[in-house]
Amino acid sequence: MSQTKSTVLLKHHLKALKLPTMLSECEKIAARCAQENVDHLGFLLQLCEQELLDRERRAADRRLKTAKFPNHKTLESFDFRARPSVNRPMMTELTRCEYIDKRENVLLVGNPGTGKTHLATALGIEACSRGRRVRFWRVTELITQLMEAREERILTRMKGQLAKLDLLILDELGYVPASKLGAELLFDVISTAYERTSVIVTTNLSFERWSEVLGCERLTGAALDRLTHRCHIIECNGDSYRLKDAKRRRRPDKSPEGPEASET
Ligand code: ADP
Ligand code: MG
Repeated sequence: MSQTKSTVLLKHHLKALKLPTMLSECEKIAARCAQENVDHLGFLLQLCEQELLDRERRAADRRLKTAKFPNHKTLESFDFRARPSVNRPMMTELTRCEYIDKRENVLLVGNPGTGKTHLATALGIEACSRGRRVRFWRVTELITQLMEAREERILTRMKGQLAKLDLLILDELGYVPASKLGAELLFDVISTAYERTSVIVTTNLSFERWSEVLGCERLTGAALDRLTHRCHIIECNGDSYRLKDAKRRRRPDKSPEGPEASET
């Protein structure tokens, strides 16, 4: 009887201390420890381990959710043979996140459908699982959001949130030319991130054509200068994977023409 009372009290305390896993698992683990003759400290150790593990898992889920990735993509599902210009050892090295600790950037350049967003997402998800705070943005959405925040006078707050990140992913720089104000706001984000937050940029534009998007030559030069200082460049050259995939599906038994035939 007194045991029930102390259990109730214990649960109350665990709740107050915000230890939900200990709360839900304590009786089960206590019973197991009694059976296996584990001493008190051993029991406490098991409880703490469970709480820590769950806490890490919950934090990882939260990081993944707030990063807002468009899809779940991994390096394992990336076919490196289909994209020989992408260096596999370098990508594997990047998953270790040392570039984030060194505040280095990653630039993924190439035409549409060559796996840039896939690789950027895979690196972002990896960074999340290794405890980094990440946010994925399509550039056009980021610019819209920045302009809205400015109008609502919450730009400082939004920039404060961006400044807390370890990794900022800017997807699709170059598809839609930004307005002058949009380009300035984007440039501001890039220069604030410089040497403080790592940035991954995906773009279909070669460097010479960046000013078409950012408008001003001076702004483009400065943005490029900051992004490419200490940066890993990954070129995704070649045919669109989507197109290749679709063609392969349509003609499954015909031998492929052109460069595909020489693929080993
Ligand atoms: P991009 O951003 O360069 O336009 P995506 O990364 O969106 O291209 O790729 C288009 C689609 O093709 C996605 O579904 C992506 O997962 C897939 N894809 C592209 N390249 C590869 C690859 N080498 N291996 C596996 N899937 C790929
Ligand atoms: Mg893309």
